Amino acid sequence: MNKESSSTSLAEQPVTVLKGVGVRSAEKLARLGIGSLQDLLFHLPLRYQDRTRIQPIGSLRRGDQVVIEGEIDLAEIKFGRRRSLMVHLSDGTGGLFLRFFYFSNAQRQTLNRGVRLRCFGEVRNGPNSLEMVHPEYQHIDPDQPVAVETSLTPIYPTTEGVHQLTLRGLMQQALQWLQQQPDGLREWLPQSLLARFPQMNLAQAVSYLHAPPPDADQQRLLAGIHPAQQRLSYEELLAHQISLRSMRAHHQRIRATPFVIDNKLKQALISALPFELTVAQSRVVAEIEQDLARSLPMQRLVQGDVGSGKTVVSAMAVLQAIGAGSQVALMAPTELLAEQHLRSFSQWLLPLGIEIGWLTGRLKGRPREAVIERIAAGEIQLAVGTHALFQQDVVFSDLGLVVIDEQHRFGVHQRLALREKGNRQGHTPHQLIMTATPIPRTLAMTAYADLDLSIIDGLPPGRKPVTTAVISDRRRDEVVERVRAACAQGRQAYWVCTLIEESEALQCQAAEETARLLAEALPDLDVALVHGRVRQEAKEHVMRDFQSGAVDLLVATTVIEVGMDVPNASLMIIENPERLGLAQLHQLRGRVGRGSEESHCVLMYHSPLSANAKERLAILRETSDGFMIAQKDLEMRGPGEVLGTRQTGEMQLRIADPVRDQGMLDEVREAAEMLLRDDPQAASQLVQRWLGERVAYVKV
Ligand code: ADP
Ligand code: MG
Repeated sequence: MNKESSSTSLAEQPVTVLKGVGVRSAEKLARLGIGSLQDLLFHLPLRYQDRTRIQPIGSLRRGDQVVIEGEIDLAEIKFGRRRSLMVHLSDGTGGLFLRFFYFSNAQRQTLNRGVRLRCFGEVRNGPNSLEMVHPEYQHIDPDQPVAVETSLTPIYPTTEGVHQLTLRGLMQQALQWLQQQPDGLREWLPQSLLARFPQMNLAQAVSYLHAPPPDADQQRLLAGIHPAQQRLSYEELLAHQISLRSMRAHHQRIRATPFVIDNKLKQALISALPFELTVAQSRVVAEIEQDLARSLPMQRLVQGDVGSGKTVVSAMAVLQAIGAGSQVALMAPTELLAEQHLRSFSQWLLPLGIEIGWLTGRLKGRPREAVIERIAAGEIQLAVGTHALFQQDVVFSDLGLVVIDEQHRFGVHQRLALREKGNRQGHTPHQLIMTATPIPRTLAMTAYADLDLSIIDGLPPGRKPVTTAVISDRRRDEVVERVRAACAQGRQAYWVCTLIEESEALQCQAAEETARLLAEALPDLDVALVHGRVRQEAKEHVMRDFQSGAVDLLVATTVIEVGMDVPNASLMIIENPERLGLAQLHQLRGRVGRGSEESHCVLMYHSPLSANAKERLAILRETSDGFMIAQKDLEMRGPGEVLGTRQTGEMQLRIADPVRDQGMLDEVREAAEMLLRDDPQAASQLVQRWLGERVAYVKV
């Protein structure tokens, strides 16, 4: 058969071709990421119900979701705590109650002794026997038997205003389209790759997943490892890999300014440091030096646990660029962190005669204009700041390197946009990205395939690991006493209040209340407070006081998550740690243990703690290995949480899961390379199919 002459692709058929889909429903479907029939078909069920057979009542167990059929032998209204209609149904193997809290009189009158019913629902433990609460039911005429479903019933992820039954109906229609033109979901994998999936082609896999036969392996389906799902996951991962690789290949054609190292400058900085670089730091410095000496733009991610000393590594890169006559922009996610960098870099680079500028969103009016002018004139060699560095009217005279700190949440596209910003006369700045969030290898390969990776493994010498205790908030008094004792010995402490999912305002209120109570309980201590709503000047003031030791106890929200470096702080209390991710807790904990003292972290949970939360917190108590913690986090919470992609909407995998499917990744990478080389058209079509508009501007 000639594939070239295939009928219209389902990717080009909008959902509005389906019966019953108008503009309004199309808008709602768009919220689920569904625009075309192809999108609809890739919207796979979360799980299934088995309505393909009638289960003997005698065989039921609590939790089963089943179809049963039987005769009513009793129906009566019970007046207990809540009025309910109780219908007893038997089928010869056993009996159970159907319980209705809401029912009409008319309804009740049809549920009489001797009437035959078929029901679907979840089996629960009732007071005396098993029961189903508000089952779906239909009357059955014994002379006219009704067929059961012939395939498992899909349950789809849905959104407000799109009913499960609506989705099911639309899917039926879409599957009919597919049946009539199986080439509408064209097979883009070459024969050599398809051989891996002998069981079914793409169209068959999709049809199977929307309507699995009664004997389908539900366990594997639920786990996402059924061959039909694997066929789709493979293709999706392949599409992502192709997209990232082609983006990377595209970058390789872009030119950057190579920087020759000024060894005198480098030595001057090294000999001025109060410490020696660790082996790991030196290795990463060397990797970066090599990159920067090339005329291809560097795209490097430096990963290093909190306190591993990334800042000084980036300073070496900054120096290499400036020494060669270029400008550098250094961006931090918050003003506080940017300020800390300003301090470090001023200390290291001012003695070398380097001009440093400062630009954040708070800088306004004339001072801002002055800085912008000096950046444009090339007088400022290093500009330190926040996102404000990349506002429209900030133009660098010769930007050669961009350093981005603690922004692993930056997506591919944001990274690209930043690069475009620095592009001048065909020269693109090098990029160095630093993160303390350890990204497990499997995830790094999928989400960050466009970056080279350097890892600072190992902390500077003399650090003592933080001892972590997990304690119930019923023992709050003991914890407060511990803070008092630590501060009495001249140490300082953090008290972190967490309150996620609610508004920032509530979070700040809670922190204020906590600070007030702690100040009352600890009259001898200087207690201060920072949170997201404290005015910038006030916040700076508090932080400075904490850094100088004037404040003993700093109560804070998670704003202190990144960057704070106060070596004398050796105790951290984290309230309700069960609300945060492990990686985030690990980062918070990294704020202590920076000095020579033994440091402690108390995770004060709110009782009772779920088994899962207990297990998660135990991991934190038992290890200080950030990579392992991130790996566990990934396994327990999924990649969206770890990468923060829930918020940024990047790397939205529809079907694949980089953890579950990691076994495929090596194969996928090879396949991507082969396709890009041998069949660029297929490669491009796959990207179009799975990533669509999101990468439309990246030419494959
Ligand atoms: P992070 O990797 O979390 O950004 P920083 O760069 O803030 O860590 O470094 C943490 C602390 O360790 C800083 O006070 C820094 O001066 C110090 N430091 C960095 N490298 C070394 C080293 N090789 N030996 C001793 N201290 C170091
Ligand atoms: Mg840092």
